[in-house]
Amino acid sequence: MPDGTPPRPPLARTLRSAEDLHAAGLLPEAAMAGVTAVSTRYSIAVTPGVAALIDPADPADPIARQYLPHPDELVTAPHEQADPTADAPFTPLPGVVHRYPDRALLKPLLACPVYCRFCFRREAVGPDGGLLTEAQLEAALDWFARTPAVREAILTGGDPLMLSARRLGTILQRLAALPHIELLRIHSRVPVAAPGLVTPALAAALELEKPLYLCVHANHAREFTPSARAALGRLHRAGVVLLGQSVLLRGVNDSAEALEALFRAMLRARVKPYYLHQLDPAPGTARFHVPVEEGLALLRALRGRVSGLAWPTYVQETPGGGGKVPLGPALG
Ligand code: SF4
Repeated sequence: MPDGTPPRPPLARTLRSAEDLHAAGLLPEAAMAGVTAVSTRYSIAVTPGVAALIDPADPADPIARQYLPHPDELVTAPHEQADPTADAPFTPLPGVVHRYPDRALLKPLLACPVYCRFCFRREAVGPDGGLLTEAQLEAALDWFARTPAVREAILTGGDPLMLSARRLGTILQRLAALPHIELLRIHSRVPVAAPGLVTPALAAALELEKPLYLCVHANHAREFTPSARAALGRLHRAGVVLLGQSVLLRGVNDSAEALEALFRAMLRARVKPYYLHQLDPAPGTARFHVPVEEGLALLRALRGRVSGLAWPTYVQETPGGGGKVPLGPALG
């Protein structure tokens, strides 16, 4: 919020519709019809903490841009695809994606604390879908047990930290008990978007005998609020190794200053910047696109301004599920 503006009282619940956003002062009445149309196709969720970060007086607010729906989401560009990372062909059974020999994804649910407007899984994620049944989860864990080439189990979704501490702890313990699993990884937006979910019980569920890496998804320095830093501190004290992943987004972090502030904020919160992703071409996300050449120029501009610790690898998914390739910039 701008200096001198009294803070808005915190909201009691997550905003999930155009009406909710309007009532919270985040959406003008004239924009409600367009957002309602978007909501028939894509989920909306803005947590109280995220809503408090948005400056409604700023039409270019980088937090609002990530989470508030826009009518352009219903316009699909010719190059955009429903499954841009091509998970489907690498899905041997529900909830499992096996693209590389030595690691595999487990997606125990497809709900998230917030729904990001640029999400590459936007056609799949939502509050109502994707929670594996007990039988499906059992089958998925059995698949991991029967696949000794897999050394790394990666929990993603959706957001695995939306699970109860008990359910998440059980899944992690089952995977960690497999002799061939050497390390575990979780991808999550929860520590910045809903840090209140990182309870002592949840942090305790993440204390494992085997290494656990948590990739925290954040795209702007302002997302590292005191509550987010406290949640990350709790996870750090539980022995979780914290890595940062971000997406290069037009209007959010497409300047050297914004990227520098983001990576410095991560390091202050004990999060090592890991990947900066080129935007995946999911439907209706063209307004966030930053050309690769521009991304490379931004990273070149950071050279010498930040330490190597703050430097992520800039990567792009290969179309058709070929995996990530580093984009540079080349050294020298
Ligand atoms: S939290 Fe992750 S999976 Fe969920 S909507 Fe955002 S980017 Fe997509």
